Amino acid sequence: MNIILLGPPGAGKGTQARFLCDERDMIQLSTGDMLREAKDSGTEMGKVVADVMARGDLVTDEIVIGLIREKLEGDKKGGFIFDGFPRTLAQADALAELLAEEGETLDHVIELQVNDDVLVQRIVGRADEARVAGQPVRADDNEESLKVRLMAYYKQTSPLIGYYHAKGQLATVDGLGEIDEVKADIAKVVDA
Ligand code: ADP
Repeated sequence: MNIILLGPPGAGKGTQARFLCDERDMIQLSTGDMLREAKDSGTEMGKVVADVMARGDLVTDEIVIGLIREKLEGDKKGGFIFDGFPRTLAQADALAELLAEEGETLDHVIELQVNDDVLVQRIVGRADEARVAGQPVRADDNEESLKVRLMAYYKQTSPLIGYYHAKGQLATVDGLGEIDEVKADIAKVVDA
């Protein structure tokens, strides 16, 4: 089974993806994590994307599609959870092609709905907690970059909601509840 988790920054995609991985032997493919790894390990590509990410803008489709392509060719275990990908219509089309090449299907697109106030609180809160604990804070977890990230979401990513709805693949889950409630709602979609 292959699933996309769709939603703005701070919607809880990463948290829910980890549950699906642990409980269903699925593989989380977070392009954000992959890009941060590339940045931290100082690869050429990491250097190219660092500034774009810190600003909150999207990196090029070509780069992220390349990252996903590599992973899709590897071990598939219980299936993939796409977290933070696709983020543009071009990425969605590329994903459809890549899955078809691998003989795979896209089974669910789950939109986590959360309002903007909560997103800002969650992300700024997450950054404050990390800072207090002496842990590294993401370069894009500040109010300025967050505005750019939200704008990128509404302009470039939210059209995917209509795209997948039209294909009959979209399920919407309320992302404002407790973590366990959201998890249960996702399970209902996945087990239906
Ligand atoms: P969040 O969902 O909290 O904004 P992510 O960890 O998913 O964070 O992504 C962080 C940043 O990485 C994005 O703001 C963007 O710069 C880059 N990025 C991640 N995934 C993609 C993607 N699919 N296409 C373009 N850029 C991406």
